[in-house]
Amino acid sequence: MPIDPTLPYDDQNIFAKILRGEIPCNTVFEDDLALAFHDINPQAPTHVLVIPKGAYVSWDDFSANASDAEIAGFVRAVGHVARALGLVEPGYRLLANIGMDSHQEVPHLHVHIFGGKPLGPMLM
Ligand code: IMP
Repeated sequence: MPIDPTLPYDDQNIFAKILRGEIPCNTVFEDDLALAFHDINPQAPTHVLVIPKGAYVSWDDFSANASDAEIAGFVRAVGHVARALGLVEPGYRLLANIGMDSHQEVPHLHVHIFGGKPLGPMLM
């Protein structure tokens, strides 16, 4: 079910539990500001999620309310993960679902990294 982005942050969401170590994940990268792990239901040969460690519901919440240091750290983490996974050549795709119309399911900001095969044109 897509989330209602007007609701406050729910600290029982699955990514909050992953950040607290209550649920395992297949970690790709971690630093003070971000965590990256393999998606449990991959849609491409490489499908990694990068999340900030702060409690932000969505990209909208994060871009409006996170500190410059958090934003810079997160953006750099996404780039670092893509490079570390060897995706820069031949390329990769970033995706963030935000709210109901995009069918965001987990109410903690996450950026999807897709790669490992030709991904074709975006259809929407
Ligand atoms: P959304 O639709 O952009 O919110 O994507 C949520 C993503 O989280 C989906 O691709 C799910 O497969 C993924 N996901 C849900 N639970 C877990 C988990 O426990 N570990 C890793 N990925 C998960």
